[in-house]
Amino acid sequence: MPHTLLVVEDEDDIRAMLRDYFELEGYRVVTAADGAQAMRLCAQKPDLILLDIGLPDTDGLEICRRIREHVACPIVFVTARVQEADMLMALGAGGDDYVVKPFRLAELGARVKAHLRRETRRAQAARVRFDGDLTIDYAGRCAYAGDTPIPLAKKEFDILALLTQHAGQVFDRERIYEAVWGYDAPGDSSVVPEHIRRLRRQLLQAGCSPRIETVWGVGYKWAK
Ligand code: CA
Repeated sequence: MPHTLLVVEDEDDIRAMLRDYFELEGYRVVTAADGAQAMRLCAQKPDLILLDIGLPDTDGLEICRRIREHVACPIVFVTARVQEADMLMALGAGGDDYVVKPFRLAELGARVKAHLRRETRRAQAARVRFDGDLTIDYAGRCAYAGDTPIPLAKKEFDILALLTQHAGQVFDRERIYEAVWGYDAPGDSSVVPEHIRRLRRQLLQAGCSPRIETVWGVGYKWAK
C-alpha cells in the first residue's frame, strides 16, 4: 500500500507541484488549501503531513497544535518564514521537520522518505521484541521460544507484554491487576501471583530464561 501524504498549502501552484511530484514518486496524495480542510482530511490518517504555516484561515502552527493530540504521524512544515524563532516555534508546536521555501523538490522528497522510513522502523520495533531466546509479537499477541509459539493464556500474555514493554520497571500487584484486568474488574489483585507463577513456568518449560523478578514487598519486574 502506498503511503498517504496530506499536503496543506494555500498557493495553488505549489500545491499542484507537490501533488504531482509526490504522486510520481508513488505516494497517494490528498491536498487541502486551508486549515479547516486540513483538519477534516486528518481523519484519513495520512502517513505524513506537509504543512504550510501561512494559511488563509488558521495558522499552520495552530493546526499542528490542534491535530497533534490525535495524529501521531510526522509533520513537516513547508514555509516561507526563515527566522530561527519560527523554526523553534514550529518544532515546539509538535512539528518534526522544517523546510524553507524555495526548496528543492528532490531534497523535500528525500526528507519525506527518511521520516517515513523512521516511522516504519519505530512501528516494527514496537511490534516485536527480541529478548535473548524469547521473541514477543505484541501485535500478533504471541510469544515464541526460537520459532516455537509458547501457549500462553490471554492474561499471561498481557502480563508478559506489560512487564517486557517496561523492562526494569517494578509493578506492584495492584497496578498489574488494573492494567491487565481493568479498573472495574470484579475480582482483586490476589490472583496476580498465581498468574505470574504460571507465566514463569510456561517460559521455563519453553526453554526461555524466566526473567520476571520478584521485588520483595514491592512487586514484579522484567530484568533488563
Ligand atoms: Ca501559504
